[in-house]
Amino acid sequence: MPTKPYLKRFPDPQGFYGSFGGAELPPDLAAEMHKIEKAYRTIGNSHDFILRLRDIREHFQGRPTPVYYAKRLTDALGGARIYLKREDLNHTGAHKLNHCMGEALLASYLGKRKLIAETGAGQHGVALATAAAYFGLECEIYMGEVDIAKEHPNVIRMKMLGAEVVPVGFGQRTLKEAVDAAFEAYMKDPDSSMYAIGSVVGPHPFPMMVRDFQAVVGIEAREQFQSMTGHLPDHVVACVGGGSNAMGIFAGFIEDPVELWGVEPLGRGTGTLGDHAASLRFGRPGLIHGFTTVTLTGDDGNPAAVHSVASGLDYPGVGPEHAYLNAEGRTRLAGATDEEAVRAFYSLSRLEGIIPALESAHALAYVRKLAADFPNESILVNLSGRGDKDLDYVYETYPPEDWA
Ligand SMILES: *Cc1c(COP(=O)(O)O)cnc(C)c1O
Repeated sequence: MPTKPYLKRFPDPQGFYGSFGGAELPPDLAAEMHKIEKAYRTIGNSHDFILRLRDIREHFQGRPTPVYYAKRLTDALGGARIYLKREDLNHTGAHKLNHCMGEALLASYLGKRKLIAETGAGQHGVALATAAAYFGLECEIYMGEVDIAKEHPNVIRMKMLGAEVVPVGFGQRTLKEAVDAAFEAYMKDPDSSMYAIGSVVGPHPFPMMVRDFQAVVGIEAREQFQSMTGHLPDHVVACVGGGSNAMGIFAGFIEDPVELWGVEPLGRGTGTLGDHAASLRFGRPGLIHGFTTVTLTGDDGNPAAVHSVASGLDYPGVGPEHAYLNAEGRTRLAGATDEEAVRAFYSLSRLEGIIPALESAHALAYVRKLAADFPNESILVNLSGRGDKDLDYVYETYPPEDWA
């Protein structure tokens, strides 16, 4: 009997990708995850749900996003043909809305009144607040006080969209505490609310659901690339924070003879804990936020402090499916430092008239190296988002006149 396609084989019924994934939770939370999984497997696969999601993607999000041949970048990097999957043109300017609309649609089918989530830099909060507005749902976003002060424009966006931003004032007052506070709020009212996670992380079924919703990126890109060129790309490249934009584009090519490169943030480039957020490269197997993956752990056994110039990439763990695919050798490990990412940020802006998000600039930075190694091959990059959110920071910290 032929084996089932990869996306049907993984995860297993318990939510494992090899030894990674699963759900290690207190009983009441585990029961809620089971309910969400069951709803996803039934409602999420129904004809009606699929048609509605397709309609939303086309008419609200503006999908399909184009694949674009970056000719001037290609010429500048020596000949490897470089193509961009333009998730920066997705509504709200990044790929995150792909899974937020899916999660919110499921919540609306389940008759939920409210969406709850945490946010670090505010990108997930903005995408979820957008989805909540679309469906007429309430939205509560938990955010550390330190992040609220740092990410003012996104805080304002969430409020404009009608979401409530709840400040979290204990501990380090950043993402980890926001996750704890959001889960606590969710457990007080699981019947009328739904938790909506921001990447391919967290307990089962979230890594699977988010991957499946993001797979539209890879499925579209594969078709588009083939119709443009008559063949498949040799390489597909994406940045990896939690790993949702990478899993989305990888999903389209997972059974093809295509190299899949996940680019992690090497931050200051020292390799010292605290100077980067490269979990796959430097991490060890462990438990974080209710699932098993590779994590960056400090001496005290807690998730380590992390650093990246791109706030969407600084998470001390990674989606369990990335841990598995990396361990199996199906995906290839890559990295880019803060400076390399900033250089790539400027070069795409000036060569192509596209200002990328600093997260996406990590993928572009690695393309520079790949292009030197494989000058006769083709490279498809997931341009996960646009750089508008990063303009003030880059302008002040890495002024344009220094990066001519
Ligand atoms: C949040 C974000 C990322 C990182 O998240 P993943 O789950 O790793 O994709 C990457 N790019 C952009 C533009 C983001 O907003």
